[in-house]
Amino acid sequence: MTRYIDNKFSDLFNRQKVNQFKIGNTTYKERIKKLDALKNVLEFTSKQKIRDAMYADFKKPFLETDLTEIYPVLTEIKFAKSNLKSWMKDQHVDTPIALLGASSYIKYEPKGVCLLISPWNFPINLTFGPLVSAIAAGNTVVIKPSEMTPNASRVMADIVKELFNEDEIALVEGEVEVSTELLKLPFNHIFFTGSPQVGKIVMKAASEHLTSVTLELGGKSPTIIDNSANLETAVKRIIYGKFTNAGQTCIAPDYVLLKSDLKEQFTKLFKSKIAEFYSEDAQSSESYSRIVNAKHFERLVSYIEEAKLNKSEIASGGTYNSSDNYIEPTLIFDMPEESKVMTDEIFGPILPVKTYSNIEEAVDYINSKEKPLALYIYSKSKKNIDFIMNNTRAGSGCVNHNLLQFLNHNLPFGGSNNSGIGKSHGFYGFEAFSNRRAMMKQHTIGATDLLMPPYTNFKQKLIDLTLKWF
Ligand code: NAD
Repeated sequence: MTRYIDNKFSDLFNRQKVNQFKIGNTTYKERIKKLDALKNVLEFTSKQKIRDAMYADFKKPFLETDLTEIYPVLTEIKFAKSNLKSWMKDQHVDTPIALLGASSYIKYEPKGVCLLISPWNFPINLTFGPLVSAIAAGNTVVIKPSEMTPNASRVMADIVKELFNEDEIALVEGEVEVSTELLKLPFNHIFFTGSPQVGKIVMKAASEHLTSVTLELGGKSPTIIDNSANLETAVKRIIYGKFTNAGQTCIAPDYVLLKSDLKEQFTKLFKSKIAEFYSEDAQSSESYSRIVNAKHFERLVSYIEEAKLNKSEIASGGTYNSSDNYIEPTLIFDMPEESKVMTDEIFGPILPVKTYSNIEEAVDYINSKEKPLALYIYSKSKKNIDFIMNNTRAGSGCVNHNLLQFLNHNLPFGGSNNSGIGKSHGFYGFEAFSNRRAMMKQHTIGATDLLMPPYTNFKQKLIDLTLKWF
């Protein structure tokens, strides 16, 4: 029996708890109808409101909002719509001969009442994306978005209110205190996206009720470039991955490991591609976002100041403007190991590059840190790619590109240990919000009926036979 907890959200929680079976017993057609309603709002009726909110929160360009906030949710919906019928079907599995007379299947049942806590960096995408999976799996949901992007939260609150009753899906706004209160409740599943530090707090709170968790966390995602890579393409794609959303992307390349003799060419290409993407003055570019708030701005500025203090080589960028939380796309070489930019997840438009002389050195460096959320390899050498793949661990990755793995819903998305627990997207998202109920059905007298007490010599012989042959 679950402990009764009385707090600000107990009433909401209890109403969803009562309603969970009604929601859980909906057909795939009814769930698709809900997904269609969400699709319609994102694609048409609230699209401009979302763009305006993202621009107000951190000057995110409209096009980038379409591409990185709205598009991934729409494709998640499309994918779920095409597959939901088969995902919801009982999955029949083989039954051993020793259990003759029975059949076996897995029933995907909803987890029940779920809590979804999301971050600020892609607020729409990382709130509504998992929500699609939760709806597809037939759950009720309480959503707690980030307080750092209040405009995005407001639009999402309006959308949720317009489409759902609170006893099915509710969105509560607020800061850490709100999260803390919610985390006291005995949810059936918590889907959290955010930092590893807060992930640990969430997991600790979940353990109180043995609530299952999906933790989509972060960390330092390395990018290795070897001698065989097409350097121009690599630099272009890394700049895109790193400076989209001004680097505030969980799977952005955090730092580059570069074969030492490529340094000069890399710097030259970096400067020319930055100018091509964002003009000579990124601050005036309509394609470049700002840092979400003053706290994160100051944190990132301290990395640049540390580099200046250390007399590290700032090969490009390095300027900033506090009036609108602008930080220039910045390239720094060979920062000391203990510097913040080399130990913390950067989450901003600063790219430190560490040079290496052989691939083993690069791999050892990666393995000296926590398992990353993503690992990127730029190489044409099968030998090097295989070596890196076989001797590192990571949640996901790309060869000769970055970020793309997030967009293929056939792939599970998530980290490993410090970068996350559990997977999302497509079927894996549906699975995260489902319990795989293991079922057997006995159709006739079964073999096990013959083995029940009293234990006779004849039954011993039958068991001996079973141990030997089945
Ligand atoms: P965060 O961990 O600070 O906050 C995430 C959410 O948790 C917010 O809603 C916040 O209000 C809440 N929260 C904050 N402190 C809390 C506490 N003490 N107790 C309970 N709840 C608390 O993360 P963030 O700054 O919003 O996002 C950045 C981090 O998220 C980065 O580490 C990034 O890599 C990671 N991230 C991961 C993914 C992914 O899919 N794996 C995606 C985006 C961001």
